Amino acid sequence: MRVDLRSDTVTKPTPEMKEFMMNAPVGDDVFEEDPTINELEAHSARLFGKEAALYCPSGTQTNQIAINVHCTPGDELICSKEAHIYKYEGGGIAKNSGTSIKLLDGDRGRIHYESVKDAINDPENIHYPLTSLVCLEDTMNRGGGAIYDSNEIQSIAALCNEEDLPLHLDGARVFNALIENGVNYETYGSYFDSISICLSKGLGAPVGSVLIGSESFIKQARRVRKVLGGGMRQAGIIAAGGLFALKNNIERLKIDHQHAQMLAKTLDEQSWIEHVMDVHTNIVVAQVSSEKSVEQIVDSLAREDVYAMPFGADTIRMVTHLDNTPAQINYAQEVIEKV
Ligand SMILES: *Cc1c(COP(=O)(O)O)cnc(C)c1O
Repeated sequence: MRVDLRSDTVTKPTPEMKEFMMNAPVGDDVFEEDPTINELEAHSARLFGKEAALYCPSGTQTNQIAINVHCTPGDELICSKEAHIYKYEGGGIAKNSGTSIKLLDGDRGRIHYESVKDAINDPENIHYPLTSLVCLEDTMNRGGGAIYDSNEIQSIAALCNEEDLPLHLDGARVFNALIENGVNYETYGSYFDSISICLSKGLGAPVGSVLIGSESFIKQARRVRKVLGGGMRQAGIIAAGGLFALKNNIERLKIDHQHAQMLAKTLDEQSWIEHVMDVHTNIVVAQVSSEKSVEQIVDSLAREDVYAMPFGADTIRMVTHLDNTPAQINYAQEVIEKV
């Protein structure tokens, strides 16, 4: 039995999703004439109580577009030093937007109100770059799928509002957060000026992310998407997978979270594991003890067809997703016990 726990990006469309995709009406989306994409965008915007949305090929692109619209070259944005936008987007903040970055420490990648407040530069002092954006990530990938405290987000949002700073959410796994904390989508949406959601992570669509915001923000974003080469034509055929996922695959994320708890428990019992991060959602991050190396463990699991990801020098990551059956999780637990 093959159990792929490297990432929740490895999921493949189910027969039901494929059928929905096959039957999706399509048109030229650069002309805004693809009915499926128009429906996906309207549905996504409505979900978070926003005016408009934009379907893009990837979450890297939705984040990079948002940064580009919010920032002018020479400006500075504030984010966690563990943020995906900083660590895993190929230096795109500098390359695409000429923007500098103020990196903050946090608790499992979740930055705090006080440190954001301290990080905002005085706009009257010409020595400093102009702070023009604050970015949060929920759930926090590098933080082992940690969920933000929504009160913290609310205070940061209020601060941004006072300081006239836009607040962007990298919500690649925001549904994993909202399904657990029960926060109302529209209330949550009201904290942010722009939101990026991924359809190809836990939701199980093959391709795509959606950027959500105001009418005027999305109008600018559409221009930037074109510049970056992200204007697609009859893309409704892939967007349909995302629409299907939003309508059918949110509630079931709870199952992935239960599976992650099961894996964490088994890992925690092993002598070659030093520490397992408290599991909030579908990501298990475990620190390896000196008894074995990350490479030894990952190789040993792979020999039995269980795949985990090295996640730093002494850390491994396992991510559960909708292609994992309960039998797969049980099998992975057995294999972990035999390492
Ligand atoms: C996966 C991911 C993205 C976007 O990744 P793409 O592979 O470009 O779609 C953005 N942020 C976080 C936190 C992610 O995990």
